[in-house]
Amino acid sequence: MNIVLLGPPGSGKGTQAKMIADKYGVVHISTGDILRENVRNNTDLGKEAKKYMDAGQLVPDDLLISIIKDRLSKPDVAGGYMLDGYPRTTPQAEAMDKILPELGQEINVVINIDVPDDELVKRLSGRRMCKCGVSYHLEFNPPKKEGVCDVCGGELYHRDDDKEKAILNRLEVYKTQTQPLIDYYNKAGIIADINGAGQIGEIFEEISTALDKL
Ligand code: AMP
Repeated sequence: MNIVLLGPPGSGKGTQAKMIADKYGVVHISTGDILRENVRNNTDLGKEAKKYMDAGQLVPDDLLISIIKDRLSKPDVAGGYMLDGYPRTTPQAEAMDKILPELGQEINVVINIDVPDDELVKRLSGRRMCKCGVSYHLEFNPPKKEGVCDVCGGELYHRDDDKEKAILNRLEVYKTQTQPLIDYYNKAGIIADINGAGQIGEIFEEISTALDKL
């Protein structure tokens, strides 16, 4: 089963992605994580991507297309995967539609998580991350000890792109560049619309119901 997860920044995509990966045994592929790892390791790709990421803008399509082509060519995707954060533009979706048949793959379902804007801003500005991948929220899901990860003891950080100006930018970018993909995949008849405004568990149940129908 190959899944695409669509949803605005702050829709809980990353959290749901981890739960889906655990329950359905698919590989979780987050292009944001791949880019952040490159930024941490100061690779050429990381240096180029950082300028866009810090401003809440999209990294150019050609870089993302080559990242995804490389990632989907690895043997571990054979048992199914879930793309979290890719595609984000129509050219990225079109490029993937060319790459997939070459690899003998197809996307079976696009999970589209919808959340109202004001809720997204509230969620994103309070988000704190740990480099081990766990995320917290100052109000909704605080760590036991302020500023420290419950799981690994690491120091929590506030992503530059979770600061207010970048958040508004990211939401705008989502509307103009990524939202047209909903139409794109609707035409392909593979969208499952999910209400992302509720509790994490309820949203996961809705997603599970959609996946269990496949
Ligand atoms: P995310 O963790 O998915 O919110 O991604 C963080 C940032 O990485 C985004 O705001 C973009 O700057 C960049 N990024 C991740 N995936 C993509 C993509 N498919 N296309 C362009 N930029 C991306």
